[in-house]
Amino acid sequence: MYFREPTVIRCVFFDRDGTLGTLDDVRYPQTFRLFPDAKKTIDALKARGMFVFIASNQSCVARGTDGGYDFAREFSLLGADDWFICPHDKKDGCACRKPKTGLLDEAVRKYGLIRRECAMVGDRETDIECGRAAGMFTVLLDDSGAKLTEADVSVRSLSELLYLL
Ligand SMILES: [Zn+2]
Repeated sequence: MYFREPTVIRCVFFDRDGTLGTLDDVRYPQTFRLFPDAKKTIDALKARGMFVFIASNQSCVARGTDGGYDFAREFSLLGADDWFICPHDKKDGCACRKPKTGLLDEAVRKYGLIRRECAMVGDRETDIECGRAAGMFTVLLDDSGAKLTEADVSVRSLSELLYLL
């Protein structure tokens, strides 16, 4: 049993690929398919008054393989309050590609968020590294439950978040 420090989480950041759904090919964002519990988890968090944001690396934009994919439409249909995308390639050395904290910092500035009231949820250790460096609570989505992680806690499915946050 895990006991979190008694800080209220008001804002949840989700990684996209591998966290809210799966991809056939990371170069082609249109091959994304939502996990069955993604939408209902977001709906339930929002029903509790939480803000839901997406923080996603999309180097497909820099590489020109995104085909003009409409991320805004996807994320607004999903019910996200806002989204922050790094469109750069790794070699661009930008400040926003996770595990750098640029995407989360931008959201903090834009909405005046209190970092310890935010959680970052992702399936990769780079998401966890990013959330920790940004001063946020971190949750690793790990369906095996076996990964070694620096995250504050790991969950096996998105719907487990509803018991945790
Ligand atoms: Zn970037």
